[in-house]
Amino acid sequence: MIIARSHQELREALHTQSGSVGFVPTMGALHIGHRSLIEAARKENDSVVVSIFVNPTQFLPGEDLSKYPRKEEADFKICELSGVDVLFYPDVQTMYGDDEVRICAPDVRGYILEGASRPGHFDGVLTVVMKLFNMVRPQRVYFGKKDAQQLALITQMVENFFMNIVIVPMETVREKDGLALSSRNVYLNPSERQEALKLSSALKRGTEMVMQGNLSTVEITDAMHKILAPLEVEYVAIVNRRFESISKVKIGDTIVLVAAQVGTTRLIDNVWM
Ligand code: AMP
Repeated sequence: MIIARSHQELREALHTQSGSVGFVPTMGALHIGHRSLIEAARKENDSVVVSIFVNPTQFLPGEDLSKYPRKEEADFKICELSGVDVLFYPDVQTMYGDDEVRICAPDVRGYILEGASRPGHFDGVLTVVMKLFNMVRPQRVYFGKKDAQQLALITQMVENFFMNIVIVPMETVREKDGLALSSRNVYLNPSERQEALKLSSALKRGTEMVMQGNLSTVEITDAMHKILAPLEVEYVAIVNRRFESISKVKIGDTIVLVAAQVGTTRLIDNVWM
């Protein structure tokens, strides 16, 4: 595995590769969710590039940028063992200069749900993803459905800017008890870890209601709020794949999303129906 820290090192590393490039952008503190993306990239491409970059522009003031988990050594090992060809591990100076051109998230889809809770977050995400895509020049890029709105906005950016890249959505990997894997789960103490299960329990209840034939989004969100009640809930939302509100669940075109604060940790989760 080649570790590239600068744009020049990345260029040289990419020169040693041939054929299709599959790319997995991450912020590190890698877990089995990230590994599932890397494994899919490994199966479907000649070369696999992973980036690890905790992108400052997607964190709002007061968020967890400075304490975001960093696990360089373990991450390098995981990448090596997963058959990654090139690990791109840039610092902030490599990625950003002064007074730069930026990508703006769309006015509506970029400022609801996650974008309402974290205004400007998606500008930072789209800007860094545009930079990374241009640096790595992949054919396929792998993103988790866990970050559903991010996935939708990146897919839209690729369309809107006529970029010749295939975005591959990947299923959310969960612990046995249902908790969605997240780098931020390390912030949870044992009792918060237990409380955090309310997110996946609420989504499970929503799924059951749909399976029993109740398609009313008002009734489903009410039932989910009851399960989530002790937590500080930021939103429960049911939208279609274009992130428009809907009154009835339509199988094949629905995403149920939840965001809540567990102690001081903000968690998100969703199910696609
Ligand atoms: P992050 O390091 O949190 O920026 O995540 C990097 C990529 O891994 C994103 O595309 C995430 O959606 C994806 N990801 C995060 N958690 C999971 C999970 N539990 N299952 C599958 N993919 C995930």
